[in-house]
Amino acid sequence: MALLEALQERSGNICELCASTENLQVYEVPPVSTGGLDGSILACKTCIDQIEKQEEMDSNHWRCLNDSMWSEHDAVKVVAWRMLNRLKSEGWPQDLLGMMYLEDEALEWAKATGEGKDESEKIIHRDVNGNILENGDNVVLIKDLKVKGSSMVAKQGTAVRRISLDHENAEYIEGKVDGQQIVIVTKYVKKT
Ligand SMILES: [Zn+2]
Repeated sequence: MALLEALQERSGNICELCASTENLQVYEVPPVSTGGLDGSILACKTCIDQIEKQEEMDSNHWRCLNDSMWSEHDAVKVVAWRMLNRLKSEGWPQDLLGMMYLEDEALEWAKATGEGKDESEKIIHRDVNGNILENGDNVVLIKDLKVKGSSMVAKQGTAVRRISLDHENAEYIEGKVDGQQIVIVTKYVKKT
């Protein structure tokens, strides 16, 4: 069964975060290397846009986490945990976080993108021009890059969509080139 169909069946064809039935898509929960059914959720465009771009955040929309944080699926709980952390300053998300329970493994996954850390502890990723890179950004390669562990060369000018950040290391991001997930050094990319 394709991933989308499996997620539709699991969720009853609703957004696993806000229960919307509109514009549903697969959202692979970063780091994308987890992948697959256990590493993905079905989510609406409204949710995904806000997950990926902080500036479009509508905190009231996320009241939906009140319900979805109790999901039986770790991928859903991980996203809920991250969004609650991002909204913590609103007050109510802090209360929900206090009630939420994640197994150690899921908690480690939730923390893998650096969400929930203080600004001062956060690792900042920057492109060649010093622009800050965020999860979900699109970048272009500014030189030919050998892909580690394969004979593939990612060509200069290749667009990499929806990158994910390596939150252990400010020099690395991950993204898909020719359908393959690769690690890219930030100084060789330009944000688009
Ligand atoms: Zn939604």
